[in-house]
Amino acid sequence: QKAEWAKLVNEPTVTKDGQHVELAANIGTPDDVKGVLENGGEAVGLYRTEFLYMGRDQLPTEDEQFDAYKAVLERMEGKPVVVRTLDIGGDKELPYLNLPKEMNPFLGFRAIRLCLEEQDIFRTQLRALLRASSYGNLKIMFPMIATVSEFREAKAILLEEKEKLVANGVQVSNSIEIGMMVEIPSTAVMADQFAKEVDFFSIGTNDLIQYTMAADRMNERVSYLYQPYNPAILRLISMVIDAAHKEGKWAGMCGEMAGDQIAIPLLLGLGLDEFSMSATSILPARTQIKELSKEQAQSVKEKVLAMSTTEEVVEFVKETFHIS
Ligand code: PEP
Ligand code: MG
Repeated sequence: QKAEWAKLVNEPTVTKDGQHVELAANIGTPDDVKGVLENGGEAVGLYRTEFLYMGRDQLPTEDEQFDAYKAVLERMEGKPVVVRTLDIGGDKELPYLNLPKEMNPFLGFRAIRLCLEEQDIFRTQLRALLRASSYGNLKIMFPMIATVSEFREAKAILLEEKEKLVANGVQVSNSIEIGMMVEIPSTAVMADQFAKEVDFFSIGTNDLIQYTMAADRMNERVSYLYQPYNPAILRLISMVIDAAHKEGKWAGMCGEMAGDQIAIPLLLGLGLDEFSMSATSILPARTQIKELSKEQAQSVKEKVLAMSTTEEVVEFVKETFHIS
């Protein structure tokens, strides 16, 4: 099977009926790019920049960050790279920020909430990204957006830093797409409004599932409620994709679900444009997608969205798409 997969490293990801989807990879460091290319990744769909900030005792400087972002962009040789701005908090702590302990860290002061408040940290990262932008195909997205106002504020800060750099003669790309993660239910529900203002969505199902089902993604005792195929989740995903397409934008997914064998036919049918997963999942996913017909996947969309339980969805998908 490994040999079969290897043949697909340099192939595009096309369904039996000729529809292309993009298979991208999630990375945490510039060194991960090697594995992305070896596994035939067409893009980086999520660069988790937290790792630059973790395992040390002070914030990374602008230049340190610039070097890392430039390295990823250069190594990807012009292929798209979606960089997520700092998503600290929840399960990822930065002891040197001395943030007060919270009762509910997953519902607390984290990610974009922290960045909009501690703007020095945010602006430093944005400058590093903007300076690196001329070395490749950079797209920037904000994590944990809950409201349209937060997105507007984050985007305004980004554009402000860009103007300052340009005024100082720094070269900055003029084609950076600005998007957001959809991982809080409020943004999925309001996707039609967000779609007018973003360039793209990336659905973060790891968090979207935990917040929609109110089931901590780290808590074994409630893991039975952590249901990627629950119709509630599928309906939200469908709303997000439809809202994006209505405004001529693209929708990707960077949660674990994007590389999941049972989810893939469903996501294809819902119209997902970009699937971002761990690098080692790319070739198996490409193999699977080449055997699928988008038209067939689309034809079961309404039926699946009208189902009532996870079990019903799973049983139907396995049977329809011959998954054992
Ligand atoms: C997600 O929430 O789905 C996601 C991709 O982000 P993280 O797993 O880093 O929270
Ligand atoms: Mg997340």
